[in-house]
Amino acid sequence: TAVATETLIAPNVKVDHTQLLIDGKFVDAASGKTFPTLDPRTGEVIAHVAEGDKEDINRAVAAARKAFDEGPWPKMTAYERSCIMFRMADIIEKNITELATLETWDNGKLYAQAAEIELPMIVRIIRYYAGWADKIHGLTVPADGPYHVQTLHEPIGVAGQIIPWNFPLLMFAWKIGPALATGNTVVLKTAEQTPLSAIFAAKLFLEAGLPPGVLNVISGYGPTAGAALARHMDVDKLAFTGSTSTGKMILEMASKSNLKPVTLELGGKSPFIICEDADIDHAVEQAHFALFFNQGQCCCAGSRTFVHESVYDEFVEKAKARALKRVIGDPFKIDSEQYEKILKYIKSGVESGATLETGGGKCGIKGYYIQPTVFSNVQDDMLIAKEEIFGPVQSILKFKDINEVIKRANNSHYGLAAGVFTRSIDTANTLSRALKAGTVWVNCFDVFDAAIPFGGYKMSGQGREKGIYSLSNYLQVKAVVTALKNPAW
Ligand code: ADP
Repeated sequence: TAVATETLIAPNVKVDHTQLLIDGKFVDAASGKTFPTLDPRTGEVIAHVAEGDKEDINRAVAAARKAFDEGPWPKMTAYERSCIMFRMADIIEKNITELATLETWDNGKLYAQAAEIELPMIVRIIRYYAGWADKIHGLTVPADGPYHVQTLHEPIGVAGQIIPWNFPLLMFAWKIGPALATGNTVVLKTAEQTPLSAIFAAKLFLEAGLPPGVLNVISGYGPTAGAALARHMDVDKLAFTGSTSTGKMILEMASKSNLKPVTLELGGKSPFIICEDADIDHAVEQAHFALFFNQGQCCCAGSRTFVHESVYDEFVEKAKARALKRVIGDPFKIDSEQYEKILKYIKSGVESGATLETGGGKCGIKGYYIQPTVFSNVQDDMLIAKEEIFGPVQSILKFKDINEVIKRANNSHYGLAAGVFTRSIDTANTLSRALKAGTVWVNCFDVFDAAIPFGGYKMSGQGREKGIYSLSNYLQVKAVVTALKNPAW
């Protein structure tokens, strides 16, 4: 499990956008402060980025307010907004190489993953929402009495959005897509670990014709810039993706300020259930993918692998072999804080008596790398089975029957996603209906599509992103009731 350092690409983009985007202009932070953003593969500084704080958030919200109240954004025709969003998608598509390079450099993810999977998804997301922009309309309502009743679906106003570091640009697109399509203006705070790609994408959006003030992008830390956004009295709606503990604070700040509505996409501990009749080789492959994709740093990672006792030994053997096969040239690069946290979880797994099948340690000399790790004989009450690790650690648990696994799978504060592997349609339907999760993937995992809603039950979140459901997060419904003079018609 050596890290093939020679596979690190030498980024050949110049990082020349490190400022805040406020009102269509790139500016320094009001304080003049900057913070370093690091290459997690080496720990070296990539660039110093403007550090936004309360004052910058205030300026950005004022710009977004002006762009909302005085136009141009909500005052444009829906078709004009749609055309601009299609141009935004086109310009991202033309700049995939540069954007994917920045994403890889700042986050440490594989370049091919960024360039071939994530960037095309981002383009698709923006086109999906561009398509919605001119298809949002209300209803006429058959009320009792002599009234003509209709609903108007209006944008809410200034949307504050806070995103994490695991999929910086994809989260950016998930957030701004529905907000802009419905006519809102946006102030978005990126994660302090990964500010670079969103600033560059925002610059491209201005070139595509997005008017000044409609999208403002602030780099900076959570407790300063993020909290200022969450508490702001002139932010009309808040959307957050990140950890459950921060999500709770966000909700509190929103309610204590102006009671702005909040959508949350938080952590998970998703069960991945392999039944006795499953296609084992396919399940091994998908369970591996479900956990190790993006170094295990997905909120929906299949991090509790429940395997039926009759296929358990075979599965563990094959899962271990699969993890061992993964490594060369495919290192797991982790943010430094995250790195220590994951090693602690691995230690706790060993100490609590789970069987370490493979991995368990650091690898490589430079940067933050962890070996792909597989534990078997994991019990429900072990920390590694309960808490979100956000790293390349697969925990395999044994089960006997379907009712037992339903109970155990649902015995979590989280409820983001679940995987079910079976050849029986009855088992698939039973499990899909019984599992308390926002997404159930049957004989597949991590299938994301612009049209498929995503979000959590329980402490995994509130509201849905993507798909038709995401639009309502950014719309006010106004009922207009008009008395009829001549009720006969
Ligand atoms: P993660 O574990 O994914 O880093 P966080 O919830 O810490 O999850 O971070 C997600 C986003 O929330 C980041 O943009 C971060 O800066 C922001 N954030 C962290 N703490 C706060 C806070 N107290 N108030 C507002 N935003 C915060």
